[in-house]
Amino acid sequence: MTGGAEPSGPVSDEHAPEQPTWSCGSCGEDWPCATKRSRLLREYGDRATLSVYLGSCLAAASEDLRTASVTSLQNRFIGWLRRGSRSS
Ligand SMILES: [Zn+2]
Repeated sequence: MTGGAEPSGPVSDEHAPEQPTWSCGSCGEDWPCATKRSRLLREYGDRATLSVYLGSCLAAASEDLRTASVTSLQNRFIGWLRRGSRSS
């Protein structure tokens, strides 16, 4: 059985975080990148649930990114949620 039909597409479009660097696996920005943020807002719809999810990501990331300050990580993972809540 030969056949190179393995699904090895180029870069995935998941915009999932790469660990332990926590950069986006699709676009390379700091995760959550702009694309992922708008997707999360759409997927969750509910900011309270989303902030719980992001809080768990923040906890995992702070284990990996020990050189980053807690404040900057909080801004990065959760801060945009508050900033983005003004419009609409
Ligand atoms: Zn991305």
